[in-house]
Amino acid sequence: MKVVKPRGTRDFPPKKMHERNHVRELIESLFVRYNYEEILFPTLEHSQLFMVKSGEEIGEHMYVFQDKGGREVCLRPEATASVCRMFVDSLRDLKKPVKVYYSCPMFRYERPQKGRYREFWQVGVELLGSGGCEADFEVIYLACRSMESLGLEFNLEIGHIGVLRNLMEDLGLDESAQDKVIYYLDTGEEDKLVELVGEQIIVDLVKLEGGREILDKAGSMLVGYDRAQKTIKELSDVVGLLESLSVDYTIDLGMGRGLEYYTGIVFEMRVEGLGAENQVCGGGRYDRLIELFGGPPTPAVGFAFGFDRVLDAMKEQGVVFPERKVDVLVAPVKREVWSEAYKVASRLREDFVVDIDLLNRKLGRILEHGNELGARFAVIVGPKELSRGEVTLRDMASGDQSDVKIEELRERLG
Ligand code: AMP
Repeated sequence: MKVVKPRGTRDFPPKKMHERNHVRELIESLFVRYNYEEILFPTLEHSQLFMVKSGEEIGEHMYVFQDKGGREVCLRPEATASVCRMFVDSLRDLKKPVKVYYSCPMFRYERPQKGRYREFWQVGVELLGSGGCEADFEVIYLACRSMESLGLEFNLEIGHIGVLRNLMEDLGLDESAQDKVIYYLDTGEEDKLVELVGEQIIVDLVKLEGGREILDKAGSMLVGYDRAQKTIKELSDVVGLLESLSVDYTIDLGMGRGLEYYTGIVFEMRVEGLGAENQVCGGGRYDRLIELFGGPPTPAVGFAFGFDRVLDAMKEQGVVFPERKVDVLVAPVKREVWSEAYKVASRLREDFVVDIDLLNRKLGRILEHGNELGARFAVIVGPKELSRGEVTLRDMASGDQSDVKIEELRERLG
């Protein structure tokens, strides 16, 4: 019986995992240097967690099922709601701001295509307990530095959901109508807006896109709408910080992210060469979600990288991944010396990546295998040399060989 893997899921053979781990380590080591600490939360959550505020898009694509106890659970489709739940459960007493990161798979029942999977990985950060423009700036800056550390070219787009939400509030649109407007912006169905809201100022506002001058345009458009004006100022403060640290950006006041919980700054990063699925990062400020889950009012901001797309983009942009390296292959010339050879391998494994023949091959075949592995050295173990406390060290690139005392091997391998 042949069983295939579910549609939209993937296997990762060793070479792929080597590349993925390399990239994950680069990103995570940067997060650590910004003093973010790793957390993890369950793969399985109560589906209600994401029904409250994650938005229509997420709700439609969730893997939901009943467990044996009749509870409705789901495979997590995103991290932010879980992190907020966790904050309320166990992080709320930590010193603020709480700075955490995660790296784990998410599940969405979407139509699989290049760059869009049903199981995909997100690596992201959440900064909880700071409502200032400094926190907005820090997460955006960290996202940019992460991309740079991978050698990726990207475009940063910034918006502010509060500008639009405050305007819509002033115009008397209730929250569900507001959510609908943002949903249409996210799905690119902007033509439906006029019909839905009937307010030209909204339609004009969401078309604003460009550099800092956009903020002046929006400012004059929004005269009389004081709360929306205030949020323009917030956006301007973050943009000011980005400029002072030489970060390039485009402002897009029509950015509607699919997740409904955003209340302030939102941002996305796109890369060249990935076709339609070119968004590699999404994030923003969500100041009311923790309270909604029963916690104290706690402002928060974060982002998630679509890790699979980041890898695809690196390939597309020609970033070179380091090869996995094997330092030494130990080659016993006879079965009788295999256990002694294994002792030599064990000692070397304290410092090096070491393999040993496990197929009882002839020396010539073992050395061929060493070349296939890309081993730098072979350590040939024969009875005659062993009786002198020695082995033969072979430089695989040059083919040079010499006998070496076993105690001196480590030093000779460099
Ligand atoms: P979101 O949680 O929807 O803001 O998504 C954050 C990032 O996850 C996006 O920018 C994408 O890079 C990535 N992403 C979202 N959905 C998928 C998917 N189905 N397959 C692969 N990556 C995805």
